[in-house]
Amino acid sequence: MNEPVMRQHARQVMVGDVPVGGGAPIVIQSMTNTDTADIEATVTQVAELARAGSEIVRVTVNNREAAAAVPRIRERLDGMGVSVPLVGDFHFNGHKLLAAEPACAAALAKLRINPGNVGKGRKRDPQFAEMIDTAIEHGNAVRIGVNWGSLDQDLLTRLMDENARAASPRDGREVMFEAMIRSALDSAAKAEELGLAGDRIILSAKMSGVQDLIRVYSELAQRCDYPLHLGLTEAGMGSKGIVASTAALAVLLQQGIGDTIRISLTPEPGGARTREVIVAQEILQSMGLRAFTPQVVACPGCGRTTSTFFQELAADIEGWLREQMPRWRRQHEGVEDMTVAVMGCVVNGPGESRHANIGISLPGTGERPVAPVYEDGEKTVTLKGDDIAREFQALVEEYVKKRYKSKQKTAV
Ligand code: SF4
Repeated sequence: MNEPVMRQHARQVMVGDVPVGGGAPIVIQSMTNTDTADIEATVTQVAELARAGSEIVRVTVNNREAAAAVPRIRERLDGMGVSVPLVGDFHFNGHKLLAAEPACAAALAKLRINPGNVGKGRKRDPQFAEMIDTAIEHGNAVRIGVNWGSLDQDLLTRLMDENARAASPRDGREVMFEAMIRSALDSAAKAEELGLAGDRIILSAKMSGVQDLIRVYSELAQRCDYPLHLGLTEAGMGSKGIVASTAALAVLLQQGIGDTIRISLTPEPGGARTREVIVAQEILQSMGLRAFTPQVVACPGCGRTTSTFFQELAADIEGWLREQMPRWRRQHEGVEDMTVAVMGCVVNGPGESRHANIGISLPGTGERPVAPVYEDGEKTVTLKGDDIAREFQALVEEYVKKRYKSKQKTAV
């Protein structure tokens, strides 16, 4: 398999104390869907997202109440020991809100500015400049976040007109891609002219089509060395959103394109917002780019596993591993690289279990009701009876203690 390559030439931008680009590990971001003015709800959700593994969290800042709430949200999070950097998402009235509530910018690590929603006509440049001045004054990083749903229409019209006059006009879609890229690059150049340091700027050019996103980011990566925030916008719900995001991001990440990612999933009614963080982690971990939590290798099951016992055990183990991770990560070095196999029968069970750090091969239909356990390729014990799940968890806990160095002992 080809190793993913890193985009070595991207500059590094600090978002609070989180490095983005310049060879730093790819950063996971998420966004709240609470009313930012509702301080209690927003603090709760930011903390949940951070605990799930979001390393930067964005909140919408759409009105005066939201802008006034941001510093209080920051204070409350700091009081809870949640130091995740906050990003403010500004559209249309961002310049006014930042001027009216200066403490808002002071509490934010980064401002997201959408060049298509900064202002129309002659108002556009001065309003953009006001926001950049605020970022300079408060030391904020800035993401120039272009989105094809709100692409700068003046720029698009100008490029379409130029194209129509060209000797050999390009396809209209190509012109739209160029407008996405130019909107990001021209806005970044303008921000630098206004005095914002180049190592404070991150770019994004999000689209909702997989092939379109790959096309635009591949070109954007060649034409600049700003770190790139990657994400398929409006990815959708459930498996469609996950598959489309993964398809697009995997192609780009494999080429070393993308320094920070967000998975824009529409939550199912009542679904957890943290899902987008878990999916982002799973994409990076599956590609071997980062490790977050031990991986469960489970077979899909087939006619040899007619009871639900095997599915329940695989799900239990996976949930249990995630619950243990915050503690294990504090205590044991490298535990996030562990693989745990939970297999349904003797066909592939022993083989797959031998390849994992620790694995269990459950009895398939008609097999003897015993479950051999393998550690580092060797069979160590055979479990039987009604308490296999709990006994296997105890074995995994023991394995972690033996196999992964204690961080406290290392420090001593
Ligand atoms: S390991 Fe056994 S139960 Fe699992 S898919 Fe293969 S044959 Fe079926």
